[in-house]
Amino acid sequence: MKIAIVGATGMVGRKMIEVLEEFNMTKDNDFYLYASKKSAGTKLFVGDKSVKVMELTEQNIKPVDIALFSAGSSVSQKFAKKFAKKGAYVIDNSSAFRRIKSVPLVVPEINANSITTKTKIIANPNCSTIQLVLPLFALDKACPIKRVVVSTYQAVSGAGINGVLDLQNGTTNKFIYPIKDNLIPQIDVFKTNLYTMEEDKVIFETQKILNKKIAITATAVRVPVKNAHSESVNVEFKKRISLEKVKSCLKTTKGITVYDDVQKEKYPMPIIADNTDEIYVGRIRKDNSQKNTYNMFIVADNIRKGAATNAVQIAKYIFKEILK
Ligand code: NAP
Repeated sequence: MKIAIVGATGMVGRKMIEVLEEFNMTKDNDFYLYASKKSAGTKLFVGDKSVKVMELTEQNIKPVDIALFSAGSSVSQKFAKKFAKKGAYVIDNSSAFRRIKSVPLVVPEINANSITTKTKIIANPNCSTIQLVLPLFALDKACPIKRVVVSTYQAVSGAGINGVLDLQNGTTNKFIYPIKDNLIPQIDVFKTNLYTMEEDKVIFETQKILNKKIAITATAVRVPVKNAHSESVNVEFKKRISLEKVKSCLKTTKGITVYDDVQKEKYPMPIIADNTDEIYVGRIRKDNSQKNTYNMFIVADNIRKGAATNAVQIAKYIFKEILK
């Protein structure tokens, strides 16, 4: 099989190469790596092969089976359909296609079956959506959810390499305020309703993936953590559900680790989730202010499960179930 990676030199692109290796998907496949002119000519190892990065231009587009895109929305807008036209299934990490009804927005543990031979473009959800929606999916199956309130604590790696450099160097090249010794309650631009686009993505994408108009509100905050996003989540159910049931339905869902033992001061943190593929859920407790409601704290590696791993899981599904 032939696999293209667009944005191969970025945080998500490099991680996708690592995850493809871990998933044993590098040996028998050919790779085509793309970036901007700046990185063209750079060599990256994919498994034991050294592959030269090409500049992404129309002339350089090769016919491939799968194209993994992580070079931002404008690049996806311009080039994704061109790869699809040449036969590729495009798995896109940007927000370019997520709102298009016919484009499946996929977390494989939830809705891989929305991918068909006809869906040539598949959208990978936003990182903060992925780690929220899988626990919500498990909970909603156990007892219908009425309303969700989520506050995010998002790592700088979510803003790409330049975000990490702003934290390391105390600069403001990516963020408009210093992120070192600070936190910023703005991710992406403001909408007319005073929510940010990041908050709007979490709300819209959660409803699209769950295929349900559950009430959900979000506040997204950038924090001075290098990697792994955290979320404080308040979930109100339509009916009574026990604490044991909340924990057991999370525990039995593939991809989730309940990491919750307050006697031993054990709860999810970015240093626990960093460089893993699991979504960690802890601090699970009844909300003392309202019935049928629970609080929990959810942490996951935004570059892995929030982007690269989820995309590679989708690619694996396409290889196994669609291209077989
Ligand atoms: P990044 O570290 O800044 O990397 C961006 C990549 O895109 C680089 O490989 C860059 O190549 C390439 N690129 C930029 N302009 C290009 C162009 N005109 N043509 C071809 N390639 C171009 O960003 P990232 O964090 O990897 O994020 C990439 C995408 O994934 C974004 O859409 C982002 O929203 C999405 N995403 C990120 C995360 C996260 O947690 N970071 C999570 C989910 C989704 P050069 O080396 O040549 O500059």
